[in-house]
Amino acid sequence: MKKTSTLGIAGVLLFISTGLNEAFADEVNLYSARKEALIKPLLDKFSEQTGVTVNLVTAAADALLARLKSEGKLTPADVFITVDAGRLHRAKKAELFQPIDSMILKSAIPAQYRDPDGVWFGLSLRARPIMYVKGKVDSATLTRYEDLADGLWKGRICIRSSGNIYNQSLVASMIAANGEADTEKWAEGLVGNFARSPAGGDRDQIKAAVAGECDIAIANTYYLARMLNDGKDDAQRMAAEKMAIIWPNQDGRGAHVNVSGAGVIRHSRNKENAIRLLEFLVSDDSQKWYAEVNHEYPVKTGVEMSETLTSFGEFKADTVNLASLGEYNAPAVKLMDRAGWR
Ligand code: FE
Repeated sequence: MKKTSTLGIAGVLLFISTGLNEAFADEVNLYSARKEALIKPLLDKFSEQTGVTVNLVTAAADALLARLKSEGKLTPADVFITVDAGRLHRAKKAELFQPIDSMILKSAIPAQYRDPDGVWFGLSLRARPIMYVKGKVDSATLTRYEDLADGLWKGRICIRSSGNIYNQSLVASMIAANGEADTEKWAEGLVGNFARSPAGGDRDQIKAAVAGECDIAIANTYYLARMLNDGKDDAQRMAAEKMAIIWPNQDGRGAHVNVSGAGVIRHSRNKENAIRLLEFLVSDDSQKWYAEVNHEYPVKTGVEMSETLTSFGEFKADTVNLASLGEYNAPAVKLMDRAGWR
């Protein structure tokens, strides 16, 4: 008797929840600057679990920003996912997002990895340490980003252009730590140590180092991790194996980190689903998958990371609120330009 009535309640609950699902237009429109392969499987899982359809638009980050601005109130977008706190800050300044108050997001994401006004949220973490060709650098002589300006490294450093937001954010983090004047002096020293004029992406700096053009490369860890895991390309894997990582500023503020992140669009028509999607992306399972496939670090503490990242060792990350990377972006760009960093 008792068993039958329990089943009866479950049946009613199932009926109600199915009914609710049908009552709303259950969809969420996502603009994503991340490649489809890096996010689609996770979105499918979200749809499976919630019954919410995700309509995905992928394009380059700056193109999506421009599109959101021009669409204004008429935008179909509910969520924008992009990389780099500097860009998330730009989207905030352009008033594309609305503040979200979610206990789930607040408790999953450490405060320094989300906007203080609740406007954007970090979803995964990337680190930008110093890399070097094994045997070519005594790691005891290079322990801080500041050391990269030392004359010892003349003609030995490869780094991409100042137009790249990863470098702008790195410099912004140095302004936050050391002030503008010291950072400009540092940038001048660094530029004086370039092995070549900046060209290519992060992966190209690693390749140039292995090819002998420089001894030191600055790159985000996931590029090295992807090279190490490129099963189709032995040459890439072997090149990456020649590199080692220095975690900078471990006795001080910590290594520079950044996020991929997202916000809910101001004119979203599916706000509840938008929040649900963000909350889903910080669940333990999503964090693990996301970090594993992208070779990024989970933004949530206590979540497992990929084997490759584990092999890079533990490190102390800079705890500066990433919002300051956005705040110092403009002075960073100007200072890099004055220092001759092209
Ligand atoms: Fe990247």
